[in-house]
Amino acid sequence: MASSDPILIVGGGLGGLTTALALARHGRPVCVLEGAPQFGAIGYGIQFGPNVFHVLDRLGITEQVLAIADFPVALRMMDALTGMELIRVPTGASFRARFKYPYIVVHRIDVHNVLLDACRGESAIELVSDAMVMGFEDRGDGVAVTTVDGRTFSGAAIVAADGVSSMFRQKLIGDGDPRPTGYVAFRTIVPMAELKADVARDCSALWGGPGMHVVHYPLRHSSEFNIVAVFRTATHGERGDAAAYRAELENTYRNAHPSIRALIGMLDLRWRRAVADRDPIRRWHKGRVVLLGDAAHAPLQSFAQGAGMAIEDGLCLGELIAAAGDDFSSAFRNFEAARVLRTARLQLESRSLWDFYHLDEGIARDVRNATVADWDEAHLFDCLSWLYDGAAIPVAAER
Ligand SMILES: Cc1cc2nc3c(=O)[nH]c(=O)nc-3n(C[C@H](O)[C@H](O)[C@H](O)COP(=O)(O)OP(=O)(O)OC[C@H]3O[C@@H](n4cnc5c(N)ncnc54)[C@H](O)[C@@H]3O)c2cc1C
Repeated sequence: MASSDPILIVGGGLGGLTTALALARHGRPVCVLEGAPQFGAIGYGIQFGPNVFHVLDRLGITEQVLAIADFPVALRMMDALTGMELIRVPTGASFRARFKYPYIVVHRIDVHNVLLDACRGESAIELVSDAMVMGFEDRGDGVAVTTVDGRTFSGAAIVAADGVSSMFRQKLIGDGDPRPTGYVAFRTIVPMAELKADVARDCSALWGGPGMHVVHYPLRHSSEFNIVAVFRTATHGERGDAAAYRAELENTYRNAHPSIRALIGMLDLRWRRAVADRDPIRRWHKGRVVLLGDAAHAPLQSFAQGAGMAIEDGLCLGELIAAAGDDFSSAFRNFEAARVLRTARLQLESRSLWDFYHLDEGIARDVRNATVADWDEAHLFDCLSWLYDGAAIPVAAER
């Protein structure tokens, strides 16, 4: 029998909100504690593969997400030096026939708002912003967390969805900071009307080159354009000024295709982040506390699937807690059993793909380009099916 104590979810990102919704749909009380002053995402684009729709469907929010989405006609990989197209995954009718759902790109704020609206419609969910959790206690028969401003929240269990730099992971696993890659990312959204670069506006594109790549795609029904530039640098831990960042970008992309150099010129230099991931681990829980999403298994963004995994996690964990009542040990073990290998595969394959994108000029790069020239649609769909076919997520019986 489940107690009426709430499940405390720390972190109101896409993983935390999905978990809240999944639990509330089973009538389980939930309290989501978000450290930021308001619930809301950083305002950049995000890509969702068809696997994410398996979750959105079950939560009943597919239509709302489709209404705010753009539908790229293809996923393309270009050689950042020559501009040659290396890989093209068409995402039209054949893709939908194969994977049952579309590939979409959305503004993070818009998709966050869909989830928030759904959460606000559930009386079982309490959303608390400005609640930065700094400590917790597992008392065996319940849990409590404390916030930096001295508040205490009690509950039945804790779901730590507190992101790649998770404080809970540090306390539960103690494996240190996220693994730095030596790469940094700049992200920018520009009005489509201001885009002068000679690049396709209707696809999700990745231009890969030696130690650098650029991703771009349309947003908000093609009224905006999302640009992400990622590159290796010795200054990844340093904070520079705009002039230093600009000089570094000009130098890094000096041999890139002119279209890419035009995009680099449009970057907003105020947002720069070091790129990091986590090593896969087998255990994500201890007692009544469990990690979820990036806190458990942050990947590199090579497949654009970190949030997709956090969303799959959220439904899976919600169903398993609902099925197990207050037997959290069983729910959390089943959660790990259901999710560890899929998410670990993403972490490991993301690292391989990262290296594949960034090959230096030389024979390995020539081999890559010659190899992918033989990859047709059927082969590419087969390569992606482990990911895009979705995960087996249990359905809890009504209690
Ligand atoms: C450049 C880039 C591009 C990406 N593109 C994609 C993409 O296209 N598709 C995709 O699926 N994924 C993408 N990702 C990955 C994706 O952003 C993450 O995997 C995803 O956001 C993880 O969700 P989460 O809910 O686990 O954590 P987060 O989104 O990090 O949310 C954690 C939340 O917890 C809060 N928090 C943290 N600590 C505390 C605390 N102590 N107390 C209270 N609250 C706290 C934070 O404020 C935040 O709201 C990309 C990542 C990067 C860096």
